[in-house]
Amino acid sequence: MSTYRWERVADGVYRCRLPFLDVTVGAVTGRDGVVLIDSGTTLAEAGAIADDVRGLDPRGVTDLVLTHHHFDHVLGCSVFADARTHCADEVLAALRDAGALAADAVSYGADAAEIAATVAALRPLNRRGVESTIDLGDRVVTLLSPGRGHTGHDLVVVVPGAPTVVFCGDLVEESGDPAIADDSHPAEWADTLDVVLAAGGPDARYVPGHGAVVDADFVRRQRDWLRQRVDAD
Ligand SMILES: [Zn+2]
Repeated sequence: MSTYRWERVADGVYRCRLPFLDVTVGAVTGRDGVVLIDSGTTLAEAGAIADDVRGLDPRGVTDLVLTHHHFDHVLGCSVFADARTHCADEVLAALRDAGALAADAVSYGADAAEIAATVAALRPLNRRGVESTIDLGDRVVTLLSPGRGHTGHDLVVVVPGAPTVVFCGDLVEESGDPAIADDSHPAEWADTLDVVLAAGGPDARYVPGHGAVVDADFVRRQRDWLRQRVDAD
């Protein structure tokens, strides 16, 4: 029995929406490995994700992608410290000095003791530099840095198939407007979404960092909303 409900987005491609903050976690299975996209906030969440993924594929997570340095996407990563990790330098920097992430998590309603235990468990990740692809044998997953937007280092995961699936991190949000934070780059965000749309194409399924899976039209509307919002400033 899995803890979370995993939605099959395409053949061998899954995502779940964590109850806390409706964060997306993705999983991609292939002949030679299993890629997890983002790790949740707490040890409890990440442990349940690890068990759930073993239910999808008994090998469990071989590769972890962290899309950006916000607590709800990365703090649970120690559970996957043995997996090959793919992330920007900024993610490692945020995890090395995790006090700010912990404070953010508690301010969003996470349990303080649980967050303290999660931070105490952090350990160095098994990172293999910044690679642009993960070869799963029967398919090659692309890691794309499309430009600045939600943060300065958002990483997008493009999974070829029928349909192609694009894990967008928080560059796309469905359950609310895009989160423009202190570390966002709103003036560049719309152009970055054009790069994401070009990578996925018109028929891809786009998985937002928060919310339901959307199509290219939705991403175009979000791009236009961002452009209008910047033009109005
Ligand atoms: Zn974020």
